Amino acid sequence: MKIGIPKALLYYTYYPLWKNFFEMLGYKTVVSNNTSKLILDNGVMNCVDDACLPVKLFHGHVIDLLGRADVIFIPRLISINPGEFICPKFIGLPEMIKSSIKELPEVVVADCNAHRNIRNAYMAYINTGKKLTGSSSLALKAFRLASSRQQAYNRILKLGGTPLDILEMNRVQDIRNDKGVIGLIGHPYLLYDQYVSMNIVAKLRDMGYRVVVPENIEDVKIEEICNRLPKKLFWSYGKKLLGSGIAMLENNNVDGIVLLSSFACGIDSFILELLHRYNRRQYGIPYTLITVDEHTGHAGFNTRLEAFIDMIEWRRAHEGNLSSYGASVSGR
Ligand code: SF4
Repeated sequence: MKIGIPKALLYYTYYPLWKNFFEMLGYKTVVSNNTSKLILDNGVMNCVDDACLPVKLFHGHVIDLLGRADVIFIPRLISINPGEFICPKFIGLPEMIKSSIKELPEVVVADCNAHRNIRNAYMAYINTGKKLTGSSSLALKAFRLASSRQQAYNRILKLGGTPLDILEMNRVQDIRNDKGVIGLIGHPYLLYDQYVSMNIVAKLRDMGYRVVVPENIEDVKIEEICNRLPKKLFWSYGKKLLGSGIAMLENNNVDGIVLLSSFACGIDSFILELLHRYNRRQYGIPYTLITVDEHTGHAGFNTRLEAFIDMIEWRRAHEGNLSSYGASVSGR
């Protein structure tokens, strides 16, 4: 039996766990194709209008798996860390898919809720494995092995590079004339979906920049930064974006920050604004926000990115110059 895994939402975060778990249980896994115009259009046409782009895309990836998988895996991620939640759109995802997509094969749902106890999230996998195979011991063994693969993946990401470099074995350029470092902040399902992100990682590398992403920042560092904030953030991914963004800004670790956001994302609307304010008040690092939706085109996107990089380079070249009235041209 083949289990279909949609290449969307938290695929870039948890694929090693999911793949190894199901394969250890004795199933084959099949992943949907890379996002294309067809996948995006199918997602848009089969999802409610007011969902955000990543949720629409998830619908398109499920459709891409129809006829190729006997069962489709749709995790219901409620909470991934004790005392925190993730976006509510993940909670209703299995029901959204079941009500929107016709001729859907059987769906496997794992209800992961670590809000009270991380063990509850682990049990979701063990219960799923037990339901599929009838064996608790096999489910436990599969989960242990899959978790160790997931931890190894997370450790590699802390050394640098992006999930795409590992999962797609992308070329990681050895940039000899390294022009600088760009911090790229956004949800993994935007940054690493090459279609909707317009391949931003490769574009920045081709311009001669090294890219730092939230997955490269140690969790303890993010936690330590977020503990300094005046209020507790209880959205796990909001914390990750804000904490990793501030970690990049501290000590001038990056030459610029690019934020990639999805139109209609509630969490980004305040998290990215907070990061913008911290930057303006304390760091003054060049910063740009690019918002994408299903209508975003390459021309406008490239123009924004190139203008931002030109601005960083112009600033670096002229920062020491004084204007005729005595102020630094950078305005700092
Ligand atoms: S966090 Fe934002 S982009 Fe992600 S699923 Fe929720 S609304 Fe959509």
